[in-house]
Amino acid sequence: DRIVSSEAMGNDLTFEQSLRPQTLSQYIGQNKVKDNLSIFIKAARMRKETLDHVLLYGPPGLGKTTLAVVIANEMGVNVRTTSGPAIERPGDLAAILTSLEPGEVLFIDEIHRLPRAIEEVLYPAMEDYCLDIVIGKGPESRSVRLDLPPFTLVGATTRSGAVSAPLRDRFGVLSRLEYYTEDQLTDIVVRTAHILDTEIEIQGAIEIARRSRGTPRIANRLLRRVRDFAQVKGNGIITLAVAEEALELMQVDHLGLDNIDHKLLIGMIEKFRGGPVGIDTIAASIGEEPTTIEDVYEPYLLQIGFLQRTPRGRMVTQLVYEHFQMEAPSK
Ligand code: ATP
Repeated sequence: DRIVSSEAMGNDLTFEQSLRPQTLSQYIGQNKVKDNLSIFIKAARMRKETLDHVLLYGPPGLGKTTLAVVIANEMGVNVRTTSGPAIERPGDLAAILTSLEPGEVLFIDEIHRLPRAIEEVLYPAMEDYCLDIVIGKGPESRSVRLDLPPFTLVGATTRSGAVSAPLRDRFGVLSRLEYYTEDQLTDIVVRTAHILDTEIEIQGAIEIARRSRGTPRIANRLLRRVRDFAQVKGNGIITLAVAEEALELMQVDHLGLDNIDHKLLIGMIEKFRGGPVGIDTIAASIGEEPTTIEDVYEPYLLQIGFLQRTPRGRMVTQLVYEHFQMEAPSK
C-alpha cells in the first residue's frame, strides 16, 4: 500500500467519515462546481422539485462521495449509496430504486462499471421515473411499467470516457472535479487538524499540503501519520520541522512523489532514454498492469507536467531531469 495512494485503504474510510464536510460552505475548493450546484440546488428547492441528475468525474480521492452527501444535505434529503460493481443483476437496481423515498439522492460510485443490461434499467428511471419490467417468459411475456418516486441520481466516475454516451446524456449536470491547489489543501489540513484536536503551525500544514498530490484523501492521511510522529517524537505540535522530518521518513518527497514514482520515472530515463515509450512497455518493465499505470500512477505525473502523452507513447519532460538533478540526453 502506498501512503500517497489516492484510493482509500486501511481504515481511511472510518477516519474520513468523521471529516466529511456536510454543506457546500464547508466543502473547500472546487469553486466552479460548487457555484453551479448551488444555483441548481436553490432553483430546485424554490420550485420544490427534485434536483437534476448529476455526474461527477475526476481522479480518486478528490471528494466525489463527499459532494454527493453534501448535495443531499443541501436538498434536505437522505442519500443512498451503492457502486457499479456492487449491482450485479437488474433486479438489484430495481430493488434499490423502488425503495427510495421521494426526492432522495441515489449515489452510484464507479458508475462506469455498471453492466450494460443494468444501465438500461436506469434509462427510463432517470428520464421518466419508471421501470420497465418484463413479466413471464417466451410468447406469454409482457412488459409492465412501474412508477418510481422522483429521485436524483448522482453518479461518480474516475473515467468519464468509460461512461456510455446514452447514460452520460441522461445527466443534466456534468461536473469535473479538479486537483486541489496547495492553498486549498492547506485549508483542508488545518480544518482536519482542528477536528482531530491537533495543534498545527501554518508552515507545517503547507508542507503536508505540498506533498499531497492535489488530493484531500492523501492530505488527510499524511496529516494523520505526521500527527503520530509529532506525538511520539515531539510535543504533539505539528511544526514545519516535524512535518518535514516525518514526511522524509515516509519517503514522500517535496512534490509528493514516492519510491514507486521514482522507479517509474528513472526506469523510463535509464531504459528508454526518457521515451517516447508505449504504456504496455512501461508496464512490463516495472511489472504492473497498463491500466494501473493509466489510472493510478500517471494522472498526477501528467498533472504536474512530469509526463507527456504523445502519439508514440509517454515521455518524461525536462522537469523530471531537473527534479532528479540528471542530465537530459541529447536526442
Ligand atoms: P473515491 O471516489 O476514491 O471514493 P472520492 O472522490 O469519493 O474518492 P471522498 O471519499 O469524497 O473522495 O473524499 C475523501 C476524503 O477527503 C473525505 O472524507 C473528506 O474528508 C476529504 N475531502 C474531500 N473533499 C474535500 C473538500 N472539498 N473539503 C474538505 N475535505 C474534503
